[in-house]
Amino acid sequence: MFDALTRQPDDPLLALIGLFRADERAGKVDLGVGVYRDETGATPIFRAVKEAERRLVETQPTKAYVGPEGDPVFLERLWDLTTGEAGRGRATASLQTPGGSGALRLAADLMARMGTKGIWLGLPSWPNHASIFKAAGLEVITYPFFDIPSQAVLFDRMMEALAGAAPGDAVLLHASCHNPTGANLSADQWRAVSALIAERGLLPLIDIAYQGYGRGLDEDAAGLRTLLAAVPEALVAVSCSKSFGLYRERTGAIYAACSSAGAALSVRTNLAALARTSYSMPPDHGAAIVSTILGDAALTADWKAEIESMRLRIAAIRERLATGLSARWQVLTAVREQEGMFSLLPLEEADVLKLRADHAIYMPTSGRINIAGLKTAEVDAVIEKFLSL
Ligand code: PMP
Repeated sequence: MFDALTRQPDDPLLALIGLFRADERAGKVDLGVGVYRDETGATPIFRAVKEAERRLVETQPTKAYVGPEGDPVFLERLWDLTTGEAGRGRATASLQTPGGSGALRLAADLMARMGTKGIWLGLPSWPNHASIFKAAGLEVITYPFFDIPSQAVLFDRMMEALAGAAPGDAVLLHASCHNPTGANLSADQWRAVSALIAERGLLPLIDIAYQGYGRGLDEDAAGLRTLLAAVPEALVAVSCSKSFGLYRERTGAIYAACSSAGAALSVRTNLAALARTSYSMPPDHGAAIVSTILGDAALTADWKAEIESMRLRIAAIRERLATGLSARWQVLTAVREQEGMFSLLPLEEADVLKLRADHAIYMPTSGRINIAGLKTAEVDAVIEKFLSL
Protein backbone atom coordinates (compact mmCIF):
# COMPACT_ATOMS: atom_id res chain seq x y z
CA MET A 1 0.00 0.00 0.00
CA PHE A 2 2.77 2.44 0.82
CA ASP A 3 4.03 1.96 -2.74
CA ALA A 4 1.25 4.33 -3.75
CA LEU A 5 3.53 7.08 -2.40
CA THR A 6 6.25 8.71 -4.41
CA ARG A 7 9.41 9.88 -2.74
CA GLN A 8 9.39 13.60 -1.89
CA PRO A 9 12.39 15.84 -2.48
CA ASP A 10 14.48 16.69 0.58
CA ASP A 11 14.04 20.16 2.00
CA PRO A 12 16.86 22.11 0.29
CA LEU A 13 17.92 23.89 3.49
CA LEU A 14 18.10 20.63 5.46
CA ALA A 15 20.11 19.08 2.63
CA LEU A 16 22.47 22.07 2.82
CA ILE A 17 22.97 21.48 6.55
CA GLY A 18 24.02 17.90 5.74
CA LEU A 19 26.53 19.08 3.12
CA PHE A 20 27.95 21.65 5.54
CA ARG A 21 28.38 19.07 8.29
CA ALA A 22 30.18 16.69 5.94
CA ASP A 23 32.64 19.40 4.80
CA GLU A 24 35.91 18.91 6.70
CA ARG A 25 37.61 22.13 5.65
CA ALA A 26 38.72 24.43 8.46
CA GLY A 27 37.08 27.86 8.43
CA LYS A 28 33.91 26.72 6.66
CA VAL A 29 31.08 29.26 6.92
CA ASP A 30 27.36 28.46 7.15
CA LEU A 31 25.19 31.30 5.86
CA GLY A 32 22.31 28.93 5.14
CA VAL A 33 20.50 27.85 8.24
CA GLY A 34 17.80 30.21 9.57
CA VAL A 35 18.75 30.38 13.24
CA TYR A 36 20.58 33.05 15.23
CA ARG A 37 24.25 32.38 15.85
CA ASP A 38 26.56 34.19 18.26
CA GLU A 39 30.24 35.07 17.92
CA THR A 40 31.22 31.48 18.69
CA GLY A 41 28.83 30.04 16.12
CA ALA A 42 26.46 28.73 18.80
CA THR A 43 22.70 29.23 19.00
CA PRO A 44 22.55 30.11 22.69
CA ILE A 45 19.73 29.65 25.16
CA PHE A 46 18.72 33.08 26.50
CA ARG A 47 19.73 33.62 30.13
CA ALA A 48 16.12 34.52 30.98
CA VAL A 49 14.92 31.29 29.37
CA LYS A 50 17.31 29.22 31.51
CA GLU A 51 16.13 31.01 34.64
CA ALA A 52 12.46 30.60 33.70
CA GLU A 53 13.07 26.89 33.10
CA ARG A 54 14.73 26.54 36.49
CA ARG A 55 11.70 28.13 38.13
CA LEU A 56 9.32 25.92 36.17
CA VAL A 57 11.16 22.76 37.21
CA GLU A 58 10.79 23.81 40.82
CA THR A 59 7.23 25.02 40.77
CA GLN A 60 5.26 23.38 37.97
CA PRO A 61 2.59 21.29 39.69
CA THR A 62 1.50 19.01 36.83
CA LYS A 63 2.06 17.85 33.29
CA ALA A 64 -1.64 17.32 32.65
CA TYR A 65 -2.90 18.71 29.33
CA VAL A 66 -3.35 22.39 28.78
CA GLY A 67 -6.66 23.00 26.98
CA PRO A 68 -6.79 23.27 23.17
CA GLU A 69 -6.56 27.05 23.49
CA GLY A 70 -3.43 26.96 25.61
CA ASP A 71 -2.62 29.25 28.51
CA PRO A 72 -4.67 32.49 28.45
CA VAL A 73 -2.02 34.31 30.51
CA PHE A 74 0.69 33.46 27.96
CA LEU A 75 -1.64 34.55 25.16
CA GLU A 76 -2.37 37.87 26.81
CA ARG A 77 1.27 38.66 27.61
CA LEU A 78 2.45 37.78 24.10
CA TRP A 79 -0.35 39.83 22.51
CA ASP A 80 0.69 42.81 24.61
CA LEU A 81 4.34 42.39 23.60
CA THR A 82 3.38 42.15 19.93
CA THR A 83 0.69 44.79 19.59
CA GLY A 84 1.18 47.16 22.55
CA GLU A 85 -1.33 50.00 22.69
CA ALA A 86 -2.83 49.05 19.32
CA GLY A 87 -4.01 45.71 20.67
CA ARG A 88 -5.39 46.83 24.03
CA GLY A 89 -9.13 46.53 24.48
CA ARG A 90 -9.53 44.88 21.10
CA ALA A 91 -11.94 41.92 20.84
CA THR A 92 -9.58 39.05 20.04
CA ALA A 93 -9.65 35.31 19.65
CA SER A 94 -6.36 33.59 20.41
CA LEU A 95 -4.83 30.16 20.51
CA GLN A 96 -1.41 28.90 21.61
CA THR A 97 0.14 26.97 18.70
CA PRO A 98 3.09 24.73 17.89
CA GLY A 99 5.37 27.52 16.63
CA GLY A 100 4.65 30.21 14.09
CA SER A 101 4.16 27.48 11.50
CA GLY A 102 1.31 26.02 13.55
CA ALA A 103 -0.20 29.50 13.81
CA LEU A 104 -0.01 30.01 10.04
CA ARG A 105 -1.56 26.62 9.36
CA LEU A 106 -4.44 27.26 11.76
CA ALA A 107 -4.98 30.68 10.16
CA ALA A 108 -5.07 29.02 6.74
CA ASP A 109 -7.48 26.31 7.95
CA LEU A 110 -9.70 28.99 9.47
CA MET A 111 -9.75 30.96 6.24
CA ALA A 112 -10.60 27.83 4.27
CA ARG A 113 -13.53 27.28 6.66
CA MET A 114 -14.67 30.88 6.20
CA GLY A 115 -14.69 30.42 2.45
CA THR A 116 -11.71 32.74 1.83
CA LYS A 117 -10.71 31.96 -1.72
CA GLY A 118 -7.42 33.59 -2.46
CA ILE A 119 -4.47 34.68 -0.38
CA TRP A 120 -2.10 37.26 -1.85
CA LEU A 121 1.56 36.54 -1.33
CA GLY A 122 4.42 38.87 -2.30
CA LEU A 123 7.41 37.15 -3.84
CA PRO A 124 9.92 36.12 -2.87
CA SER A 125 8.68 34.85 0.49
CA TRP A 126 9.48 32.14 2.98
CA PRO A 127 8.77 29.03 0.84
CA ASN A 128 6.59 27.43 3.54
CA HIS A 129 4.02 30.23 3.21
CA ALA A 130 2.77 29.03 -0.17
CA SER A 131 3.03 25.35 0.86
CA ILE A 132 1.00 25.88 4.03
CA PHE A 133 -1.72 27.91 2.31
CA LYS A 134 -2.03 25.42 -0.54
CA ALA A 135 -2.15 22.48 1.88
CA ALA A 136 -5.16 24.15 3.53
CA GLY A 137 -6.88 24.41 0.15
CA LEU A 138 -6.43 28.16 -0.41
CA GLU A 139 -5.55 29.61 -3.77
CA VAL A 140 -2.21 31.42 -3.58
CA ILE A 141 -2.08 34.55 -5.74
CA THR A 142 1.41 35.97 -6.06
CA TYR A 143 2.66 39.44 -6.88
CA PRO A 144 6.19 40.84 -7.14
CA PHE A 145 7.37 42.31 -3.82
CA PHE A 146 11.13 42.62 -4.21
CA ASP A 147 13.46 42.95 -7.20
CA ILE A 148 16.65 41.03 -6.52
CA PRO A 149 18.99 42.71 -9.05
CA SER A 150 18.13 46.24 -7.86
CA GLN A 151 17.43 45.18 -4.22
CA ALA A 152 14.30 47.33 -4.31
CA VAL A 153 10.85 46.83 -2.79
CA LEU A 154 8.34 46.95 -5.64
CA PHE A 155 5.82 48.90 -3.64
CA ASP A 156 3.92 50.41 -6.57
CA ARG A 157 3.45 47.00 -8.15
CA MET A 158 2.38 45.55 -4.82
CA MET A 159 -0.26 48.28 -4.43
CA GLU A 160 -1.43 47.84 -8.02
CA ALA A 161 -1.84 44.10 -7.48
CA LEU A 162 -3.69 44.49 -4.18
CA ALA A 163 -6.00 47.08 -5.71
CA GLY A 164 -7.22 44.23 -7.92
CA ALA A 165 -7.88 41.84 -5.02
CA ALA A 166 -11.47 40.73 -4.49
CA PRO A 167 -13.15 41.81 -1.24
CA GLY A 168 -12.72 38.99 1.27
CA ASP A 169 -9.37 37.89 -0.16
CA ALA A 170 -6.54 37.54 2.35
CA VAL A 171 -3.11 39.22 2.20
CA LEU A 172 -0.01 37.84 3.87
CA LEU A 173 2.38 40.50 5.18
CA HIS A 174 5.69 40.06 7.00
CA ALA A 175 5.69 42.36 10.03
CA SER A 176 9.43 43.11 9.70
CA CYS A 177 12.80 41.43 9.11
CA HIS A 178 11.41 39.99 5.88
CA ASN A 179 12.45 36.42 5.11
CA PRO A 180 14.29 36.06 2.71
CA THR A 181 15.01 39.65 1.62
CA GLY A 182 15.46 41.72 4.80
CA ALA A 183 13.58 44.47 2.93
CA ASN A 184 10.74 46.15 4.75
CA LEU A 185 8.02 48.69 4.20
CA SER A 186 8.49 52.26 5.45
CA ALA A 187 6.02 53.77 7.91
CA ASP A 188 4.34 55.64 5.02
CA GLN A 189 4.09 52.46 2.99
CA TRP A 190 2.50 50.64 5.94
CA ARG A 191 -0.05 53.45 6.22
CA ALA A 192 -0.82 53.27 2.51
CA VAL A 193 -1.18 49.49 2.39
CA SER A 194 -3.28 49.52 5.58
CA ALA A 195 -5.66 52.06 4.00
CA LEU A 196 -5.92 49.97 0.84
CA ILE A 197 -6.63 46.79 2.80
CA ALA A 198 -9.35 48.55 4.80
CA GLU A 199 -10.86 50.16 1.72
CA ARG A 200 -10.98 46.96 -0.33
CA GLY A 201 -12.25 44.82 2.54
CA LEU A 202 -9.28 42.44 2.53
CA LEU A 203 -8.25 40.24 5.44
CA PRO A 204 -4.62 40.79 6.48
CA LEU A 205 -2.59 37.91 7.92
CA ILE A 206 0.55 39.29 9.50
CA ASP A 207 3.44 36.96 10.14
CA ILE A 208 5.73 38.18 12.94
CA ALA A 209 8.64 35.81 13.47
CA TYR A 210 11.64 38.06 14.14
CA GLN A 211 10.49 40.75 16.57
CA GLY A 212 13.55 42.35 18.16
CA TYR A 213 16.00 41.43 15.39
CA GLY A 214 15.53 44.47 13.16
CA ARG A 215 15.23 47.96 14.66
CA GLY A 216 14.00 47.04 18.14
CA LEU A 217 11.09 45.26 19.81
CA ASP A 218 8.55 48.06 19.36
CA GLU A 219 9.95 49.29 16.06
CA ASP A 220 9.69 45.80 14.52
CA ALA A 221 5.98 45.70 15.35
CA ALA A 222 5.20 49.30 14.36
CA GLY A 223 3.83 48.46 10.89
CA LEU A 224 1.68 45.69 12.29
CA ARG A 225 0.30 48.12 14.88
CA THR A 226 -0.48 50.73 12.20
CA LEU A 227 -2.35 48.10 10.22
CA LEU A 228 -4.22 46.80 13.23
CA ALA A 229 -5.50 50.28 14.04
CA ALA A 230 -6.75 50.71 10.46
CA VAL A 231 -8.72 47.52 9.86
CA PRO A 232 -11.77 45.94 11.48
CA GLU A 233 -10.43 42.38 11.24
CA ALA A 234 -6.95 40.87 11.09
CA LEU A 235 -5.05 37.67 11.79
CA VAL A 236 -1.64 37.77 13.48
CA ALA A 237 0.66 34.71 13.54
CA VAL A 238 3.38 35.02 16.17
CA SER A 239 6.47 32.84 16.40
CA CYS A 240 8.57 32.75 19.58
CA SER A 241 11.25 30.63 17.90
CA LYS A 242 13.71 33.44 17.23
CA SER A 243 12.63 36.18 19.62
CA PHE A 244 12.96 33.83 22.60
CA GLY A 245 15.37 31.33 21.01
CA LEU A 246 12.84 28.55 21.63
CA TYR A 247 13.01 26.92 18.19
CA ARG A 248 12.57 23.27 19.20
CA GLU A 249 10.02 24.02 21.91
CA ARG A 250 7.52 24.92 19.17
CA THR A 251 6.07 28.08 20.66
CA GLY A 252 3.72 30.51 18.99
CA ALA A 253 0.19 31.83 18.82
CA ILE A 254 -2.52 32.80 16.39
CA TYR A 255 -4.61 35.88 17.12
CA ALA A 256 -7.68 37.17 15.35
CA ALA A 257 -8.59 40.80 15.94
CA CYS A 258 -12.35 40.89 15.53
CA SER A 259 -14.99 43.55 15.19
CA SER A 260 -17.11 42.28 18.11
CA ALA A 261 -16.96 40.00 21.15
CA GLY A 262 -19.48 37.70 19.45
CA ALA A 263 -17.28 37.31 16.38
CA ALA A 264 -14.25 36.67 18.60
CA LEU A 265 -16.08 33.86 20.38
CA SER A 266 -17.04 32.27 17.12
CA VAL A 267 -13.45 32.52 15.78
CA ARG A 268 -12.03 31.09 19.02
CA THR A 269 -14.31 28.06 19.00
CA ASN A 270 -13.50 27.41 15.35
CA LEU A 271 -9.75 27.68 15.95
CA ALA A 272 -10.08 25.30 18.90
CA ALA A 273 -12.07 22.83 16.78
CA LEU A 274 -9.43 22.97 14.04
CA ALA A 275 -6.65 22.38 16.57
CA ARG A 276 -8.56 19.45 18.06
CA THR A 277 -8.71 17.64 14.73
CA SER A 278 -5.05 18.31 14.04
CA TYR A 279 -2.70 18.09 17.05
CA SER A 280 -5.35 18.49 19.77
CA MET A 281 -3.43 20.36 22.49
CA PRO A 282 -0.47 22.70 22.03
CA PRO A 283 2.94 22.04 23.59
CA ASP A 284 3.29 23.83 26.92
CA HIS A 285 6.93 24.19 27.88
CA GLY A 286 7.95 27.06 25.57
CA ALA A 287 4.77 29.00 26.26
CA ALA A 288 5.28 28.56 30.01
CA ILE A 289 8.81 29.95 29.62
CA VAL A 290 7.62 33.00 27.64
CA SER A 291 4.84 33.64 30.12
CA THR A 292 7.25 33.37 33.05
CA ILE A 293 9.64 35.85 31.44
CA LEU A 294 6.98 38.36 30.43
CA GLY A 295 5.35 38.14 33.85
CA ASP A 296 8.53 39.07 35.71
CA ALA A 297 10.03 42.53 35.34
CA ALA A 298 13.63 41.43 36.01
CA LEU A 299 13.49 38.50 33.59
CA THR A 300 11.86 40.70 30.95
CA ALA A 301 14.59 43.31 31.34
CA ASP A 302 17.30 40.67 31.01
CA TRP A 303 15.64 39.11 27.96
CA LYS A 304 15.33 42.55 26.35
CA ALA A 305 19.00 43.32 27.02
CA GLU A 306 20.07 40.02 25.50
CA ILE A 307 17.96 40.31 22.36
CA GLU A 308 19.20 43.89 21.95
CA SER A 309 22.81 42.70 22.01
CA MET A 310 21.95 40.09 19.37
CA ARG A 311 20.27 42.74 17.24
CA LEU A 312 23.32 44.99 17.49
CA ARG A 313 25.65 42.13 16.55
CA ILE A 314 23.63 41.46 13.39
CA ALA A 315 23.49 45.18 12.55
CA ALA A 316 27.27 45.57 12.95
CA ILE A 317 28.00 42.63 10.65
CA ARG A 318 25.40 43.90 8.19
CA GLU A 319 27.16 47.26 8.10
CA ARG A 320 30.58 45.72 7.36
CA LEU A 321 29.17 43.38 4.76
CA ALA A 322 27.33 46.21 3.00
CA THR A 323 30.48 48.36 2.93
CA GLY A 324 32.65 45.50 1.68
CA LEU A 325 30.31 44.13 -0.97
CA SER A 326 29.16 47.51 -2.28
CA ALA A 327 32.75 48.30 -3.25
CA ARG A 328 32.09 45.97 -6.18
CA TRP A 329 28.29 45.81 -6.37
CA GLN A 330 26.99 49.32 -5.72
CA VAL A 331 23.46 47.98 -5.35
CA LEU A 332 24.47 46.10 -2.20
CA THR A 333 24.63 49.30 -0.19
CA ALA A 334 20.96 48.31 0.28
CA VAL A 335 22.10 45.50 2.59
CA ARG A 336 22.85 48.20 5.18
CA GLU A 337 19.22 49.37 5.23
CA GLN A 338 17.78 45.87 5.23
CA GLU A 339 17.08 44.32 8.61
CA GLY A 340 16.87 41.08 10.50
CA MET A 341 18.95 38.04 9.80
CA PHE A 342 18.49 37.76 6.04
CA SER A 343 19.45 39.38 2.79
CA LEU A 344 18.92 37.99 -0.67
CA LEU A 345 22.03 38.57 -2.77
CA PRO A 346 21.83 38.87 -6.56
CA LEU A 347 24.02 35.83 -7.20
CA GLU A 348 23.80 33.28 -10.00
CA GLU A 349 23.48 29.65 -8.96
CA ALA A 350 26.98 29.09 -10.41
CA ASP A 351 28.37 31.76 -8.01
CA VAL A 352 26.74 30.08 -5.02
CA LEU A 353 28.15 26.71 -6.02
CA LYS A 354 31.60 28.21 -6.62
CA LEU A 355 31.67 29.80 -3.17
CA ARG A 356 30.71 26.43 -1.73
CA ALA A 357 33.21 24.38 -3.76
CA ASP A 358 36.19 26.75 -3.65
CA HIS A 359 35.77 28.50 -0.31
CA ALA A 360 33.47 26.36 1.89
CA ILE A 361 30.93 29.20 2.12
CA TYR A 362 27.47 27.66 2.29
CA MET A 363 24.17 29.28 1.30
CA PRO A 364 21.14 28.08 -0.63
CA THR A 365 21.14 28.60 -4.39
CA SER A 366 18.55 31.35 -3.98
CA GLY A 367 21.38 33.57 -2.67
CA ARG A 368 19.75 34.10 0.74
CA ILE A 369 22.34 34.69 3.44
CA ASN A 370 21.88 34.54 7.20
CA ILE A 371 24.02 37.41 8.44
CA ALA A 372 24.05 35.93 11.95
CA GLY A 373 25.97 32.98 10.49
CA LEU A 374 29.05 35.24 10.31
CA LYS A 375 31.54 35.84 13.09
CA THR A 376 33.12 39.30 13.25
CA ALA A 377 36.59 37.83 12.80
CA GLU A 378 35.70 36.16 9.50
CA VAL A 379 33.70 38.93 7.80
CA ASP A 380 36.63 40.46 5.89
CA ALA A 381 37.78 37.08 4.59
CA VAL A 382 34.26 36.22 3.47
CA ILE A 383 33.89 39.58 1.70
CA GLU A 384 37.15 38.90 -0.12
CA LYS A 385 35.83 35.53 -1.32
CA PHE A 386 32.68 37.19 -2.66
CA LEU A 387 34.78 39.83 -4.42
CA SER A 388 36.83 37.09 -6.09
CA LEU A 389 33.75 35.79 -7.95
N1 PMP B 1 7.46 32.93 9.47
C1 PMP B 1 8.65 33.14 8.92
C2 PMP B 1 8.84 34.29 7.97
C3 PMP B 1 9.71 32.30 9.23
O1 PMP B 1 10.91 32.53 8.68
C4 PMP B 1 9.49 31.23 10.14
C5 PMP B 1 10.57 30.24 10.46
N2 PMP B 1 11.79 30.57 10.49
C6 PMP B 1 8.23 31.07 10.71
C7 PMP B 1 7.23 31.94 10.34
C8 PMP B 1 7.83 29.99 11.67
O2 PMP B 1 8.74 29.57 12.55
P1 PMP B 1 8.42 28.46 13.66
O3 PMP B 1 7.37 27.56 13.15
O4 PMP B 1 9.73 27.77 13.85
O5 PMP B 1 8.00 29.20 14.87
